[in-house]
Amino acid sequence: MSYSNSIIFGPIPSRRFGISLGIDLSPNKKQCNFDCLYCELEPAKTMDKMVEYPSVKEVISEIKNSFEKHPKIDVITLTANGEPTLYPHLEELIDEINKIKNNTKTLILSNGSTIYEKDIYNALLKIDTVKLSLDCVSQKCFKKLDRIHNGIDINKIIESMILFRKETKNIFVLEVLFVKTLNDKEEEIQALYEAIKKINPHRVDIGTIDRPPAYKVQPVTFELLEKVANTFKGINVNIAFKNRPKQTQSFDETEIISMLKRRPLTKEDIENMFDENSKVILNRLLDESIVSLVDSSGVNFYKIL
Ligand code: SF4
Repeated sequence: MSYSNSIIFGPIPSRRFGISLGIDLSPNKKQCNFDCLYCELEPAKTMDKMVEYPSVKEVISEIKNSFEKHPKIDVITLTANGEPTLYPHLEELIDEINKIKNNTKTLILSNGSTIYEKDIYNALLKIDTVKLSLDCVSQKCFKKLDRIHNGIDINKIIESMILFRKETKNIFVLEVLFVKTLNDKEEEIQALYEAIKKINPHRVDIGTIDRPPAYKVQPVTFELLEKVANTFKGINVNIAFKNRPKQTQSFDETEIISMLKRRPLTKEDIENMFDENSKVILNRLLDESIVSLVDSSGVNFYKIL
């Protein structure tokens, strides 16, 4: 069949991964088992398997063509207009990509809902970076915000994420998107923190709506995201927020150490929070190996190890 939109997008420069080649496993229409209120695609009926999709052969041939034209691709990103793990031949596709990718990394961006299906769990184990969403911990919030397909169970997802983190030898990143009045209440934030501690991902990206959403919902403020980051003590939290306010302050050595003990800070956090003198102190702590700069799948964190 022919596709009105391309399977491949890119290569495009990515802030985290260098040059990224995007693979859209659902190029013609939205195919998803969620219909999130904040989705940037049009609302659509949920489904549990894709009905229209490119063959493994077509995807691999497109990747080979791109490799010939652009030999310096750093990462192949598996995504979709919808949910990429609904692609019926996911494991076979990943096996074929792994045969030809050489040093190129693989990344998948998924809503996380299918992780408890054995074949998908196994397929995810073969990908270099797995980034999954987790917007809510209570089934009520999950249903309301992510408008899930019947039968998807948040408890089973969290249990599988805990197992996955223990088993994977690769990078596992979680993403939480906060929406005003839906998952920004104290109770839900605490429940998320408890679940995230058990899952123990390498990194948690937190953010809010920054593109026109499918339904009438509102973003949360930067202050709310900062509060969440401070609640998620000891976790590598990366705040993603467009036009983040710059509020630099002066911190002494004791304050810097105690802040980093509470939570690791990204380079972006430092740029937005530290005045020049505080940065000098931080760099000295780095030179003295009291603070370390640790890479977590493309995001650098200042940490006390
Ligand atoms: S999981 Fe992603 S594609 Fe699916 S509805 Fe939610 S935001 Fe849209």
